[in-house]
Amino acid sequence: MENIRFTALEVILKRPELEFDLKNERVSAIFGEMTFNRSAMQEFLTADAFAGLINVIEKGETIDRKMADQIAAGMKSWAMSKGATHFTHWFHPLTGATAEKHDAFIIPEEGGKAIENFKGDELVQQEPDASSFPSGGIRNTFEARGYTAWDPTSYAFIIDQTLCIPTIFVSYTGEALDFKAPLLRSLAALDKAATQVCRLFDRDVNKVTATLGWEQEYFLVDNALFKVRPDLMLTGRTVFGHASAKDQQLSDHYFGTIPERVYHFMRHFEREAHRLGIPVKTRHNEVAPNQFECAPVFQEANLSVDQNQLLMHLLERIARKHHFQVLLHEKPYKGVNGSGKHNNWSLMSGKRENLLTPGKTPKSNFRFLVFLVNVIQAVNRHADLLRAHIASAGNDHRLGAHEAPPAIISVFIGSQLTRTLDEIEKRRKKGRMSPEGMELNITIPKIPEILPDNTDRNRTSPFAFTGNKFEFRAVGSSANCAGPMIALNTIVADQLRHFRNEVDQLVAKNVKKNEAIFQVMKKYIRESHRIRYEGNNYSKEWEEEASGRGLSNIRSTPQALSALLNPESVRLFVENQIMTEREIKARYEIQLENYTKKIQIESRVLGDLATNHIIPVAIRYQNMLIENVRGLKEVLDSKTFVKLSRNQMQSIKDISGHLEEIKNMVALMLDERKAANRLDDSVKKAMAYNQKVFPYLDRIRYHIDKLELMVDDELWPLPKYRELLFIK
Ligand code: ADP
Ligand code: MG
Repeated sequence: MENIRFTALEVILKRPELEFDLKNERVSAIFGEMTFNRSAMQEFLTADAFAGLINVIEKGETIDRKMADQIAAGMKSWAMSKGATHFTHWFHPLTGATAEKHDAFIIPEEGGKAIENFKGDELVQQEPDASSFPSGGIRNTFEARGYTAWDPTSYAFIIDQTLCIPTIFVSYTGEALDFKAPLLRSLAALDKAATQVCRLFDRDVNKVTATLGWEQEYFLVDNALFKVRPDLMLTGRTVFGHASAKDQQLSDHYFGTIPERVYHFMRHFEREAHRLGIPVKTRHNEVAPNQFECAPVFQEANLSVDQNQLLMHLLERIARKHHFQVLLHEKPYKGVNGSGKHNNWSLMSGKRENLLTPGKTPKSNFRFLVFLVNVIQAVNRHADLLRAHIASAGNDHRLGAHEAPPAIISVFIGSQLTRTLDEIEKRRKKGRMSPEGMELNITIPKIPEILPDNTDRNRTSPFAFTGNKFEFRAVGSSANCAGPMIALNTIVADQLRHFRNEVDQLVAKNVKKNEAIFQVMKKYIRESHRIRYEGNNYSKEWEEEASGRGLSNIRSTPQALSALLNPESVRLFVENQIMTEREIKARYEIQLENYTKKIQIESRVLGDLATNHIIPVAIRYQNMLIENVRGLKEVLDSKTFVKLSRNQMQSIKDISGHLEEIKNMVALMLDERKAANRLDDSVKKAMAYNQKVFPYLDRIRYHIDKLELMVDDELWPLPKYRELLFIK
């Protein structure tokens, strides 16, 4: 009988070491060479087309057909000079992955010949046969199809000899079917609102962009082992597996030396990332064995979101060349840390000033505090909406599991800023702030410049101010950053708009401008107290205190998603022109369905593995024990037999006990699944999967993990945690 686990281990042991000739190139020599970046544009476009494209990128101007043809021609020449033969519109459908459909640069000519061609129309708009992408009912398959439209603000790039053109994906009626369209709308809303607030301080500011720097965590596992764990292959996580005797308890992996094989992989994918213009900068080991992280230099948010999608794809491809598989799931292994993706977010003015950097002058400090307080107030008003935008079946395993921020959204700002905000609040109570006496230097407490060092240390907060940016830490590792970014940009845009209105109203009542700003800011500080928390977010006390403060602690995805349909959330998206009510409802449906399907798949996989892999092996081992007991009976006198067979008999009984439990629960889980599948209402169905089906996964697992400890290692068919986690 062949044991697939041993076959896989043998493959690894006998595999010759991979040879990689990684040249010592300078990053500057290769950086961005596979992107149609500004220098490529300049080289391959006519002066007119270049100037036109820059206008499109910077000012959002539209392109006429003639110019589109010119740009397409230049882009094609560039792509062909890099060996590209095909092009594709690259987009982010709501499945969470990215999508592409390749077309060759080709036009047949008379006489059986063909030439390479790429027209403006093909660059600007395409109609992918995308009827199977989720649309949440917006676009029925028999209705008009969706189309993709070029997003000139994100550079086109080449991968696999294919020119990839970043696009949005919308229905013919203009409704977004992807992540990018609402992301761009949210960035536009934020630009508008933040610029208006900046102008209270500096009339020369005419643009504000959001910046994003993500930190991507992931696991590596040897490909040979991965391929013989059907649960990892089909669900991205292990649905059973007993803890390894040693895992992360010695903390010896975190920031340790990167193993050589992993190091080769990292250098390889970093090189490819650099060629694609992704400025990856840091790499290190994470807490769990075989867990790693990489992070780039931050960029404008739209570009950074695209780059993260691209990087996740790159990680998977390059890993395979090194016989690794990348696991982007939030919780591939029970009992060791899961993976997140911190979203570092800030605001940058058109003058390239970071609006969340404390300034050197009272005036810039004032502006800094205004933005800081508005972000806090935005989170305070829309905490549930943020929570909804990080909800996924995978992330449910992390949030609140004492390894990642809890499901309670709160904001950490550090002791210095806490003192500053307290001071502002107190001064008002003393009534020292008469409009006439309002001078910036007396009202704005001085903020020390060493802030970054003092704010970064609370690692338990889901939303922490870290010196010159906010760090949204509760995002899951497999998420498209666009989701949380849409939410964050929108709530802050709405809040800033609100702020500017309130200030304007006071000014209209003859309150001096600075005094008006100050008053509104103070009001927000007071109102947003409840969302600020400086303590240990993993603690039991916080759970209790948060509930006393009226903060939500939403543990499951179906529950969390319901916040999307709150009247206030709907108002927020509709009023700021990010999404229509129909678009919001469609997304809600898609997410619910996605959750349901994920749990359904996990449940089926576990059921199949339990029935076809685990139970037969346990029975085989049990038969060996029975055989052994029979043999003992033959060779021993009855008194000795009774004495010496006691433990064996007990093991036989224990195995039967676990087998019984597994069999029964697999059947019960199947019944629950059937009952859930009969429900027509998508909310009820997702809830049923969450509350009725999901709990069986852990209960069944418990018994399988017990069996793993009992059954002869030679028989156990699937790689164990010690192998998955430690083979490097
Ligand atoms: P850590 O959080 O591990 O201490 P850093 O503070 O150096 O590390 O930065 C982490 C991430 O924050 C990086 O991806 C970086 O690009 C990003 N980041 C730094 N400044 C900004 C900013 N102004 N806007 C957005 N992201 C930023
Ligand atoms: Mg960080």
